[in-house]
Amino acid sequence: MTDVPTFRYHPDPVGTGEVITSDAPCRCCGRHRGLMYTGPVYSEDEVVEELCLWCISDGSAATLFEAELTAVLDVPDDVPQPVLTEVLTRTPGFSGWQQEHWMFHCADAAAYLGKVGYEDLLVVPEALEMINQPATALSATGEATGYLFRCLHCGTHLAYADHV
Ligand SMILES: [Zn+2]
Ligand SMILES: [Zn+2]
Repeated sequence: MTDVPTFRYHPDPVGTGEVITSDAPCRCCGRHRGLMYTGPVYSEDEVVEELCLWCISDGSAATLFEAELTAVLDVPDDVPQPVLTEVLTRTPGFSGWQQEHWMFHCADAAAYLGKVGYEDLLVVPEALEMINQPATALSATGEATGYLFRCLHCGTHLAYADHV
């Protein structure tokens, strides 16, 4: 496997579990490229674990299925449209318990680092402070989960949480 795509706003999609190694064919390019996206695809067609990382990266999957790969909520006015387009259509998304949403900081989208629990948040107090529910119950694999991001400019960690 050569030239694995990299993503500014989702630096380790294998580590976060949203991309898996798989020999399945990609429904977009038809090739067996070895890394398949398992996160959400918002489109009219149902597309589940059928897109390779390359078709995510170059936007061809989003174009073919008129899909978005994540959701945004309350986008700050200072975030440029190209950033929003990159997050929505050319960045692997992630699955939450409820409708997930991307986070923003310093007029840019933040990098998604993955699901976290209370212990993980203790080392990033600025993110822990943003959690508006009892944080001690959070677990990366349990029924209440935190979602951690990091600002690409100032390094501030951001987080929100949801539950089943
Ligand atoms: Zn593909
Ligand atoms: Zn920042």
